[in-house]
Amino acid sequence: MTTRKADRLDTALASPLVDSHHRRITYLRLSVTDRCDLRCTYCMPERMQFLPKADILTLEELYLLARAFMGRGVRTIRLTGGEPLVRRDVIDLVRAIGRHVGIELDEVTLTTNGTQLAQHADALARAGVRRINVSLDSRDPATFRALSRRDALPQVLEGIAAARDAGLEIKLNTVAMCGVNDAEIPDLVAWAHSQGHAISLIETMPLGEVDERREDRFLSLSQVRADLESRWTMTPSDARTPGPSRYFDIAETGGRIGFITPMSENFCAGCNRLRVTATGQLYPCLGGGERVDLRSALRSHAPDREAAQALDRAMLIKPERHDFRIGTGLAPAQPRHMSVTGG
Ligand code: SAM
Ligand code: SF4
Repeated sequence: MTTRKADRLDTALASPLVDSHHRRITYLRLSVTDRCDLRCTYCMPERMQFLPKADILTLEELYLLARAFMGRGVRTIRLTGGEPLVRRDVIDLVRAIGRHVGIELDEVTLTTNGTQLAQHADALARAGVRRINVSLDSRDPATFRALSRRDALPQVLEGIAAARDAGLEIKLNTVAMCGVNDAEIPDLVAWAHSQGHAISLIETMPLGEVDERREDRFLSLSQVRADLESRWTMTPSDARTPGPSRYFDIAETGGRIGFITPMSENFCAGCNRLRVTATGQLYPCLGGGERVDLRSALRSHAPDREAAQALDRAMLIKPERHDFRIGTGLAPAQPRHMSVTGG
């Protein structure tokens, strides 16, 4: 990937990004592809309609966007998708962004399903990544297969081990699902901690149509937390990451657990995030339809000015909060799947 064109973008710190609800934006989730090698049942249908390849931004364009956000005070960039590691040459992009860590950026990181992590862990560490999130919803091969519709648990576990060996700090992400992995959660937490990894539990969100009824699977984390508190001594932790996890330390396992509760405990008041799809559409809210088109801005005759104006527009239209609801007869809050907007 050449960065010469990209380097023309002026990144002198223009006005920081502050939305109309006085929230300062410092965190970008940048999707590099909506494609994936798994088909998690809560995320997408088996026959997923992916975005047209011709509409996907080049790696150079993604880097230009990253620079534009850094120029407006974004300090953390998380590459996501879809599965970021299925995008060819994505490490070139990580490396290019990684050069800004310690200067404009505090951190470049990524969220991955881990299937390709064994091949890429060393390169990620060399590219400037220090921490990654790996999604792991089950350590039981049959449950993993049913949930992801693919037989990939051994590769994922190998990927997690390789990442640890490469010196990457790992946080596991687990979507809690009723009747699927709920009984396994305490074991999963204990295993994560025994390996030295933190773990965050996530509530399933109504994003895009899937092949099952979300209300059959939704599990409130307040219930899960009460169950875990009956087993273990859990103390609220002061630890914060740039994302929405709220953490507890568990005395018996010596590890940390996070709860991401978009449904049961709204955290929008502290939102510091923006999301950009692999086609350059900026969605200021995961749960909203508002968007601005950064691809057109990038491909205009005045990309710097157009991109800056698009970011200003995003600040005006970022909603105060999402309005997620899961229930019989309710349509998804958004037709977009999480794999499109970027998790
Ligand atoms: N493929 C990568 C992975 O799975 O880690 C990155 C993209 S994925 C969309 C990011 C995160 O979103 C994963 O932790 C996944 O479990 C979560 N996710 C996907 N769909 C979701 C939904 N409808 N509700 C809650 N979390 C979801
Ligand atoms: Fe792929 Fe991640 Fe969605 Fe699973 S959650 S289908 S791994 S994008």
